[in-house]
Amino acid sequence: MPTYAIPPHPQAVSPITGTEDLFPVRRVYCIGRNYADHAIEMGHDPDKEPPFFFQKNPDNIDTSGVFPYPEKSSDVHFEVELVVALQSGGRDIPVQQAMDHVYGYAIALDMTRRDLQSEMKKMGRPWEIGKAFERSAPMSPLIPAERIGHPTAGAITLHQNGELRQSGDLNQMIWKVPEMIAYLSQYYDIAAGDLILSGTPAGVGPVAKGDVLVGAIDGVGQFEVTVI
Ligand code: MN
Repeated sequence: MPTYAIPPHPQAVSPITGTEDLFPVRRVYCIGRNYADHAIEMGHDPDKEPPFFFQKNPDNIDTSGVFPYPEKSSDVHFEVELVVALQSGGRDIPVQQAMDHVYGYAIALDMTRRDLQSEMKKMGRPWEIGKAFERSAPMSPLIPAERIGHPTAGAITLHQNGELRQSGDLNQMIWKVPEMIAYLSQYYDIAAGDLILSGTPAGVGPVAKGDVLVGAIDGVGQFEVTVI
């Protein structure tokens, strides 16, 4: 029997509220510009063009509630997002069946080295250096849909040191959750353990060490992150 030449990395996991079980994270898909007011604030036309996705790494997920200010950036932004966690998957999933694959939900901050992302955008290069860095996805524990249902409307907010910075409604998503799942499944093998970060409303902005960020989503809960 072959063995590993080096020790295998631990499986990336998320806790699950109300249980001691862990959710094994496989892939992390993130949609860009999925709330019209955020698309406008980033200088884009919010008309419904095809969605686009980028990825973070599974081990960028961090449920500790602490975000260390990263290297090589002086403009790190918060983006509060609803996370959709999948319990199953497939290819070419019809929109009408997409919700059968949803295990539950969480709140994440899609932390972004905006200065590095902007440089990459200007040069037409990939965004990973701005998006997929260490601990770049602070995330709350997952909450199973069997406990909270499937939130499709309700406030999504981010407070920074007690001040309201981001405010939107889940019903403002340009691409809805089942549409995102169906779309991704046309391009990838979607599978149990995949997470989808479903986009952020307007109001993104920079963080500083010492900040306390609180993301909240109606029907899901709230999640506090301290920047160190
Ligand atoms: Mn985002």
